[in-house]
Amino acid sequence: MRKASIVSIGNELLNGQAVDTNAVYLSEKLLALGIPVVSRYTVPDEIDAIVQAFDLAQHDADLIIATGGLGPTDDDLTRRALAECLGADLKCDDRVLRQIRDFFARRGLQMPERNKVQAYIPVGGKPLENKLGTAPGIEAKKADKWFFSLPGVPLEMKDMFERCVLPELAQIPPGHVTLVRKIKCFGAGESAIAELLGNLMQRNRNPLINCTVSCGVITLSIVASADNRADAKTMIEHAEQLLNSRLGTLVYGVENQTLAEVVGQMLAEQNKTLATAESCTGGLIAKLLTDIGGSSRYFTCGWVTYSNDAKSTRLDINPDLIQKYGAVSENVAAAMADAARIRAKADFALATSGIAGPGGATAQKPVGLVYISICSEKGCKTRRFIFSHDRDSIRRRAALTAINLLRLELSN
Ligand code: ATP
Repeated sequence: MRKASIVSIGNELLNGQAVDTNAVYLSEKLLALGIPVVSRYTVPDEIDAIVQAFDLAQHDADLIIATGGLGPTDDDLTRRALAECLGADLKCDDRVLRQIRDFFARRGLQMPERNKVQAYIPVGGKPLENKLGTAPGIEAKKADKWFFSLPGVPLEMKDMFERCVLPELAQIPPGHVTLVRKIKCFGAGESAIAELLGNLMQRNRNPLINCTVSCGVITLSIVASADNRADAKTMIEHAEQLLNSRLGTLVYGVENQTLAEVVGQMLAEQNKTLATAESCTGGLIAKLLTDIGGSSRYFTCGWVTYSNDAKSTRLDINPDLIQKYGAVSENVAAAMADAARIRAKADFALATSGIAGPGGATAQKPVGLVYISICSEKGCKTRRFIFSHDRDSIRRRAALTAINLLRLELSN
């Protein structure tokens, strides 16, 4: 079975200035090709550390992908470390040098002399063109070990991986295949989901089901290993059917789909429109929905009526209603949704009113209390939630819960 190891190079990854998103991206892409990442090394811009990481990585795996350290400055040492690991000299590649000069020339600039160092490639290695920057990548083989050295800048790394590395890896006849399928759920906690799945989540199973949670979105990853792609695919399909039948409407999508994307698709397919009236979420529902290209087909408009006065003057909510029940109440949330739907002439409206904290709580109304209302021509449904953690999580959770309520309404 082919296995990969990732070497992430750069002081910024160790001192907290940058998050290693390259390794996350590469792990996901490689696993989708059936190549699991068995180890990762994060090392500073120091030649000995990089060489040692290459040694460890090639002990663990037969495919080694490094990112970073290919720049023109003195702290960019990956070329030298890779040459040392391969037992090869570095030699200037004239074609690469021309490409770097052209890169500068296209911007009306002359190549600084120090960029010349980027044209040095280990003898026997192959340069990989960088179309978005100056640092070329390097591909090299040593016995049965296969090395790729890619730039650190995420955009450049991804472009090079997809253009130069992925097509090569896709050609490898797989000895053993691992496939992954992500099932996205919303509307129940991790333990409720685990309860519904029962023995399917046992650790020694194949396919294995892993669970991660982020702001109420539960991602179940089905990981299937088999001798060939067809068998792994069949295992994934069976497991996906099982999960769908056990979890029902808790499942909203697959892979990297977001709730807003799925709800947007449903609104577009059903030819329905939506308006929002937000208080504690401050426009986040509207933001998430309009993050999706083409959302003008279904999203009409949104109000952020944060103060009591704005609720009354913009949405015509009776001040007596706010006085009697408080702005954070079932009645006011329902009145906001109703008013938004009528004013926007939309099929649906969502409204939120809550206490995101850290201040503003009373004995009856704790931090995290949010009323979410959804209105349609059939009337208004309003629900009370108590979300936990900090202000940001409460607001995010409330916005996603509102979008999910609309999803459930649209699936009826
Ligand atoms: P360049 O010549 O453009 O500097 P490079 O290959 O030398 O390319 P680095 O200097 O190592 O790249 O990194 C450039 C920037 O890319 C870093 O400052 C950091 O913000 C980002 N970066 C580097 N490695 C990673 C990583 N593993 N994940 C996410 N971002 C990264």
